[in-house]
Amino acid sequence: DGPPEPRVGHAPERSEALFARARAVTPGGVNSPVRAFRSVGGSPRFIERASGAYLTDADGNDLIDYIGSWGPMILGHNHPDVRAAITDALAGGTSFGAPGWREVDLAELIVRVTGVGKVRFVNSGTEATMSALRLARGFTGRDYIVKFRGNYHGHADGLLVEAGSGLITNADGLGASAPSSAGVPQAYAQLTLVSEYNDADALDELMRERGHEIAAIIFEPVIGNAGVIVPTPAFLAALHRAREGGTLLIADEVMTGFRLARNGATERLGLHPDLICWGKIIGGGLPVGAYGGRADVMDFVSPQGPVYQAGTLSGNPLAMAAGLATLRALDADPDVYTRLDAYTSRLADGLRAAADATGVPVTVQHIGSMLTVFFLDAATLPHGEVRSYADAANADTAAFARWFQALLARGVYWAPSQFESIFVSAAHGDAELERTLEAARAAFAEVK
Ligand code: PLP
Repeated sequence: DGPPEPRVGHAPERSEALFARARAVTPGGVNSPVRAFRSVGGSPRFIERASGAYLTDADGNDLIDYIGSWGPMILGHNHPDVRAAITDALAGGTSFGAPGWREVDLAELIVRVTGVGKVRFVNSGTEATMSALRLARGFTGRDYIVKFRGNYHGHADGLLVEAGSGLITNADGLGASAPSSAGVPQAYAQLTLVSEYNDADALDELMRERGHEIAAIIFEPVIGNAGVIVPTPAFLAALHRAREGGTLLIADEVMTGFRLARNGATERLGLHPDLICWGKIIGGGLPVGAYGGRADVMDFVSPQGPVYQAGTLSGNPLAMAAGLATLRALDADPDVYTRLDAYTSRLADGLRAAADATGVPVTVQHIGSMLTVFFLDAATLPHGEVRSYADAANADTAAFARWFQALLARGVYWAPSQFESIFVSAAHGDAELERTLEAARAAFAEVK
């Protein structure tokens, strides 16, 4: 699948030259902020091609990829089934602006696996969360929504409030003030109430006081966008209690869907959301998002109902083909999640051992095939673990940046931010694990 003996150590000269050209014509030289390597320094690698667990950059370095396009590439890159499905679809034309059978097949598969009543396809995770919130407001007739500090749900106006991901990476940290982006009107931000993740009492209190005004609570069932943070059972119970007054619970499974289990975090954590948002994996590396849930709620979407939502390229045949091939490959491999979890657990154990051996204090958090190495001493954390963005914010980002660069120089492509999850794919095997841990040991020694 990948290269037999990965080549590393070529100076990133072509990447640097491409970055200089890109900066002249694109803001920051990139089309999505975290790609710019702002918080770790240096030039981002420009990628030439990818196969299995490896990326090959413009200078000919083969890099073990732990980003997986930020989640979609759970099967590894350039999977033969996905390539074949796209090629087959391509032969029939690229876009019809009319319904086709692949949309029905993919919707049926998602309904069967996840148990939702109905699903609507869009083109990104951002569109999915934005549309789900409009639907929740239309269905309940209420204007306010609740989100949690450090959760990221894409870049729709009302969700760029105390947001995670690039909003943390490229800022000094989250301020107390909303919104977290210029250009988001205060009037929009005021309709977004922010609560603390994993704080059941705060959520209970908010719902007691304002519940009757709140259309929906949107949450990352496992936070990936502040680094990996797992919800406590008490917090999950509070989320479900919050539904009692008619507030809809929206699980943002854009990152966790079809990753933490076949039915994502909903299955793994035993959730009962009213609506679920997906993206990433369901598009198999092409642009797809979706939202779905209770049929009585989904029937409020146009043309069935009064909540408008549309898309020129929604249900695109190539994107549907890639998503279908990916979900079918996952479906056909009963052990895939066991293998992903096992690789990630071994990676976590190896990273902890490597850090301990060099005396670098880290807290490694992981669930399923998501993992973050926080450069934080567990002994100084209130719960001995990272439970909120407030905990994560104390991480030593300078040490992380040095560690990241030391890994990259040794051919391991980690997420270029302390506040992101990495993603393991089914193409990662023993050879990649060994190479990664060898590089990590050397990188920790350099950080020390
Ligand atoms: N929701 C979550 C949990 C995400 O992680 C992301 C993207 O990383 C989004 C929504 C937005 O998805 P997209 O980047 O496809 O718009």
